[in-house]
Amino acid sequence: MSVVALCYHGVSPTWRSPMAVTPRQLEAQVTHFLRRGHRPATVAEAVSAPPGRRLLVVTFDDALASVHRLALPVLERLGVVATVYAPTAYVFSGERMHWPEVRHHLLGPDAAELDPMTPAQLVDVAARGWEVGAHTCTHPWLPELDDDELRTELVESRVALERLLDRPCASIAYPFGAHDDRVVRAAEAAGYATGVTLPGGAPRWPAAPVGRRRLTLPRIGVYRADGPLRYRLKVGAAGRVVRRPKAISRRRPTASPANVHTPRA
Ligand SMILES: [Zn+2]
Repeated sequence: MSVVALCYHGVSPTWRSPMAVTPRQLEAQVTHFLRRGHRPATVAEAVSAPPGRRLLVVTFDDALASVHRLALPVLERLGVVATVYAPTAYVFSGERMHWPEVRHHLLGPDAAELDPMTPAQLVDVAARGWEVGAHTCTHPWLPELDDDELRTELVESRVALERLLDRPCASIAYPFGAHDDRVVRAAEAAGYATGVTLPGGAPRWPAAPVGRRRLTLPRIGVYRADGPLRYRLKVGAAGRVVRRPKAISRRRPTASPANVHTPRA
């Protein structure tokens, strides 16, 4: 396996949500690949690297404040750059994340875990070599939107980040990993060069992604339950084709206690 792309959300020593890993887990999981000769790369760097390079692509969806507070120091110490995907309506308003799948956390003691990074923190990580990509404006299920809504979510988030960072915003993470052909075409038309998904399983990156394959790059979701053994089994499988990745749901699941706790945020 030459490129391994990991998808994280929050980092917290205390938050019991599947969405978070502890700083210690993050350090061990990243070190696992550095020891095996993988070099850190952003998404943009990885797609343009020569085929065959062993690369580690660390990504964070949702741009939670804990990423700046707790992941950044760990990764800086390891010499690792990452790519963070920001839902711009939250980052620019400062409102806690509150789409239906995460809203229940706002009622408990961990509500502050849903604080977004500030615009200044995004500027800070960009200055440290991180890539900042878009995660739409409001974090909807993109396949459910009509064409106008879809375009607005894709274009306005890109433009807002480009204005903030004064550089191109070339990458999108589809919320929940949910996408279909129409969404991918719209992402391309909205100016994105790369898009990242969450197909489940241990997917391989294409050896030299070109064209639209760059807009459906798979990542391995890493969650709190991934202790050392489970993590090794999970990412170790990335080197082999062990099973066909699960199809990604294109529809927002109806709310139920099980779905409310979905880690795919
Ligand atoms: Zn998300």
